[in-house]
Amino acid sequence: MRDFAQEIEQRKLAGLYRSRRLVSGPQQPTLVADGKALLSFCSNDYLGLANNPEIIGAMTSSLPDVGVGGAASHLVCGHHEAHHHLEQRLAMFTGRSAALFFSTGYMANLGVISALAGRGDTVFSDRLNHASIIDGCILSRAKVRRYPHGDVAALEAMLAATSGHKLVVTDGVFSMDGDIAPLRELARVCRCHDALLVVDDAHGLGVLGPQGRGSVAEAGLSEEEVPVLVGTLGKGIGTSGAFVAGSEVLIDYLVQKARTYIYTTAMPPALAVATCASLDVVERDGQRRSHLEGLIRKFRAGAQALGYELMPSRTPIQPIMIGDNWAALALSQSLEAQGVLVTAIRPPTVPEGEARLRVTLSAGHSERDVDLLLQALAKSRPILSGGGAGKPAI
Ligand SMILES: *Cc1c(COP(=O)(O)O)cnc(C)c1O
Repeated sequence: MRDFAQEIEQRKLAGLYRSRRLVSGPQQPTLVADGKALLSFCSNDYLGLANNPEIIGAMTSSLPDVGVGGAASHLVCGHHEAHHHLEQRLAMFTGRSAALFFSTGYMANLGVISALAGRGDTVFSDRLNHASIIDGCILSRAKVRRYPHGDVAALEAMLAATSGHKLVVTDGVFSMDGDIAPLRELARVCRCHDALLVVDDAHGLGVLGPQGRGSVAEAGLSEEEVPVLVGTLGKGIGTSGAFVAGSEVLIDYLVQKARTYIYTTAMPPALAVATCASLDVVERDGQRRSHLEGLIRKFRAGAQALGYELMPSRTPIQPIMIGDNWAALALSQSLEAQGVLVTAIRPPTVPEGEARLRVTLSAGHSERDVDLLLQALAKSRPILSGGGAGKPAI
């Protein structure tokens, strides 16, 4: 029998052991974690909407009308008019003909990739794609070719050398690096080589593009150019769930074939109501995005002045590159001792030797919050240069 306890012990020795913090109260920059108030820079609530009164109000006031439970899958009797309305709203928001509401982004990617590719087909996947895309590729049973991160020329060579049905899948904004995929060029090579392009815009939605319509809208790409658009609702949009947007026939096909849509209980209708309310705020409130952009610039300038290594990112995802697992943990712990929460991201979430602190900024942060983060980073800076990265207690 496998020795689970020993495997856990090995993880601890490698600096790879993970544990959960217990949060109380709402998700917001001042987060109560394990009973301690911390200033958090690690949520994906980029627009500060997870605890927004208007959205809470919309959800609360819908509850007497729609109840709590989803009660059944969509194809049985769970497809509520609140879900239907959200799907129309999402199609409009993304400039697509239709949309399909999934329970999570993880399930959307599993469902979409396994429905659109199968045995004998080939899926081309960026090396830094999200875990849910990797798992979707495995589940599809198609042949999987990973291409070097953002390398359209390498992808094009692979596409040219492959026959049969081809699917190309990429994150819009890469979740651990914060950079944006070369979407226009990807759309071009996919068109040239008759490959279906899937873009997962989990981190671009709400943040990038006109009125927060995402990285695909920012690149000005139509439904023909990016036929399959996946978006998640638990990040910039501040609620929960995910969707796929595209042509009517694509959505109809997914209703027939996407197993993670078919064989699961519909999300609570009240959540769909809340998400519609959130989309209203996202569209209307450009102030949130411009405030966020200011915070990103401020953070980058400050952190670089302190000698920290950042990634070429203009999104709210601003990783501080460390390399060593223990050094990343030590820096994270030193910040936490100063009341600032930034989690260390280690393999296998990122490649071996690329441990980092994943700083995420939110419109919910103030300029002063970023000042506090930079002050804490200044104090902790010697950890990286002074060999102070001995193994901390876990
Ligand atoms: C977070 C994330 C997902 C998963 O979405 P959930 O709704 O959290 O399951 C999918 N793709 C990418 C790129 C992500 O960052």
